[in-house]
Amino acid sequence: MQIFQTSRPWNGERLKTLVIACSDGRLQEEVDEFLQSHLTIDHYDRLYVPGGAGALATSAAESVRSDRFRSECQFLITAHGVERIILMFHGPAVDGPPEALCGDYKRRLPASSPSAIREQQERDAEQIWRDGLGDGIRLEIYRCEVTRDGFVGFVWMYD
Ligand SMILES: [Zn+2]
Repeated sequence: MQIFQTSRPWNGERLKTLVIACSDGRLQEEVDEFLQSHLTIDHYDRLYVPGGAGALATSAAESVRSDRFRSECQFLITAHGVERIILMFHGPAVDGPPEALCGDYKRRLPASSPSAIREQQERDAEQIWRDGLGDGIRLEIYRCEVTRDGFVGFVWMYD
């Protein structure tokens, strides 16, 4: 027994763009707004995991996890014909609230300050950019930052 039906019909077109971001629900609407308003994409595959792009970094001393996550990405790239991957890190801006830290980075680096975690994310972004995710795959890496006045900004890291 169907209990609900969407107002829009299903769009079966393959998307070719994959967004990798943190599962942190406090940023979902802001990430959607950035994707729609700034990058002008509203139809994309999503891979939302704790840490977002950071889950791909092999520097995280959790190489089993990053290897597994890379395999999931490879599956999507192959099965869905992905050509463009948008990768997101997140946390407080330089003057932003510490409670905006990524919970996954906090778990992995419990003794680190917000600025040390930001530096780790920068190293992770550099490593992901250097290693790539396959031939012909265009990567774009951003950091989503909560500012002191409670807004969310997006900072370019690599593309
Ligand atoms: Zn997070």
